[in-house]
Amino acid sequence: MQKREDYRIETHLIHAGQDPDPTTGAVITPIHTTTTYAQAGIGEHKGFDYSRAGNPTRKALEDNIAVLEGAHRGFAFASGMAGLTTFAHMLKAGDHIVAEENAYGGTVRYLNMVLANFGVKTTYVDASNPKNVEAAMTSATRLVIAETPTNPNLKLNDIKALSEIAHKHSALMAVDNTFASPYLQNPHKLGADIVFHSATKYIGGHSDVLAGLVTVNTPELGDRLHFLQKSMGGVLSPFDSWLLLRGLKTLHVRMQRHCENAQKIAEHLARHPKVTKVNYPGLPSHPQYELAKRQMRGMSGMLSFEMKGGLPAAKKFATASVGGVWTLAESLGAVESLICHPVTMTHASVPKEQRERSGVTDGLVRLSVGLESVDDLIEGLDGLLAKV
Ligand SMILES: *Cc1c(COP(=O)(O)O)cnc(C)c1O
Repeated sequence: MQKREDYRIETHLIHAGQDPDPTTGAVITPIHTTTTYAQAGIGEHKGFDYSRAGNPTRKALEDNIAVLEGAHRGFAFASGMAGLTTFAHMLKAGDHIVAEENAYGGTVRYLNMVLANFGVKTTYVDASNPKNVEAAMTSATRLVIAETPTNPNLKLNDIKALSEIAHKHSALMAVDNTFASPYLQNPHKLGADIVFHSATKYIGGHSDVLAGLVTVNTPELGDRLHFLQKSMGGVLSPFDSWLLLRGLKTLHVRMQRHCENAQKIAEHLARHPKVTKVNYPGLPSHPQYELAKRQMRGMSGMLSFEMKGGLPAAKKFATASVGGVWTLAESLGAVESLICHPVTMTHASVPKEQRERSGVTDGLVRLSVGLESVDDLIEGLDGLLAKV
């Protein structure tokens, strides 16, 4: 028999953490809605005593993501933000963070407007150049947060180079892997200590579940994070855990099509006279095209582009989409294609100065390319561009 650890990721997506149920043979992991577990004697239980500390359905998911990311252990939370805020509690007042400036707007809002009040300061840099991260490190830096590809400019962070810098300064390296998904990129293999996902996006994949997944690569970090997870309580419900297990079973098939559709759309937009610039790591014009090929197995379904005509053009484009094949909405990574205007939507709470420095310009439009017919999607975009 083949050894399970030698299975490829496509097999792990479907099977890891999910043996047939020993009592019934059910192939699909049951949704264990129980909160508590009978003990045969005091403290004599089968690894579960209360569902905040552990639940069998959640555990199947946590074991699955750990295998997918090549991690020591995985944890499931009620949202991506719950995952981030939980592991951020490894820090204490006086500690310092260095973070990618082009990060998800909610990450920036949390670091600036919540965590900063507890005495943990963040310095933002353009982490696509590792030298900027090195220069921002201080003796108090305990955490480096990368996001790659970044939202919404699709810049890359060199995970291997940044991990080396973090470790040289005894800091932990965390990577937001939401845009790539575990199918396209595995940061632990490049040195990251903590990997986190908004599983609301590609992992769930159907815009019907809000969830976060975090993995760590050592038993020590596993114990610390499990302690924080049960102490803080932002765990994922059994039903939502099951939805993610279901989503993961098709992640590879979905991601392949997301990548194919986005590549065609990026190439099409790059030729369009009303578009001044396309940000997509699958285009040879991307400044980090070589790093993209080295670090990722595919370029994902996210891209952004600059409209000729700036803010009015971008707003007109976005609002004209209402009622067509593209949906004007926040979020990303699901089967349906979405348009977003970052400056007025996802990144509205990022300070203007930081937004402009990191390239989130008024004329930037972000696309989450879904799984509809790529010809319909391209015709839809052409129709919208014609109205601007
Ligand atoms: C959505 C998102 C988050 C936050 O996750 P939620 O599930 O919405 O809490 C974090 N990082 C990135 C890159 C995201 O897209």
